[in-house]
Parts: sequence; C-alpha cells; structure tokens
Amino acid sequence: MPAGSEDGSMSAAESRQDQEKPPTRRIGHCACGSVRFRVDGPADRVGICHCTDCRRESGSAFTYFGVWPLERFASEGTVATHRGRSFCPTCGSRVFAVSERAAEIKLGALEDAPAQLKPVYELWIKRREPWLAPVPGAEQYQEDKPA
Ligand SMILES: [Zn+2]
Ligand SMILES: [Zn+2]
Repeated sequence: MPAGSEDGSMSAAESRQDQEKPPTRRIGHCACGSVRFRVDGPADRVGICHCTDCRRESGSAFTYFGVWPLERFASEGTVATHRGRSFCPTCGSRVFAVSERAAEIKLGALEDAPAQLKPVYELWIKRREPWLAPVPGAEQYQEDKPA
C-alpha cells in the first residue's frame, strides 16, 4: 500500500457513494409530522454551536446543525418563526432557520439517525459544558467563526 493511502480512503469512499446514486436526499420533520422538509446533496457545512441563544432555543447544551444552499431546500407545513428560527407551532420542534441564501437545518429533525454528518467546526466553545469533549478534527472557535 502506498504511504498516505489511508488519508484519502474516506473521501474516495464518499465520492464513490456520490457517483453511484443521485444526490443524497435527506428528509426531516417535526415531532408531530405537520412540518416536513428535505435537503438535497451535501451540506455546505455542519457544525455545533454552544452559544447562549442555541442553548436557550434548544433547551439543551448545544445545537447540531447543517447548512444547505436555499435552492437545495424545500419545506411544507406551517411554521412559527422567532428571531429567524422556525419551529412547529403544534409540537414545538425546532426545524430550521432560513435566510435569503441558505437553510440551516436542525439535524436532529432528520428522519434517519445517526445522520452521518460530522461537524467540521464548533462555535462558542467557551460555553461548552466541561464534560463535553471537542469533536475530533473539528475547527474550534471561542465565539462565532470570524467572517
Ligand atoms: Zn410538529
Ligand atoms: Zn449558537
């Protein structure tokens, strides 16, 4: 085996998977099923955020999200939106935050778990609980990622 082949094996496997079938479609929905969405193809980025807003909004220690370009996102059902973050008005599940260009998906809302979407970065690690370890290989930012 040539040296370094192991480094490339992961991305080779991923691209092989991409070639075998059309762009991966991922389906998600809220807990009661009245809000449904889909995203096509790979996420632009996947991350974890430990900031105060994410903690409060999720009621948990961090949020796990993926960002897709708006043209590869579609949703149906009525959502309520507070400060840009949308949720199901019936069951309260957080589902996504849509801006002019991108859709940020709460990855816990995806139908299939585990989602196999590994965070490439972590935000607001200064708020990370001390019992949580950094995700191996993920970029670490004390606060937001510098623009
Ligand atoms: Zn619902
Ligand atoms: Zn946050």
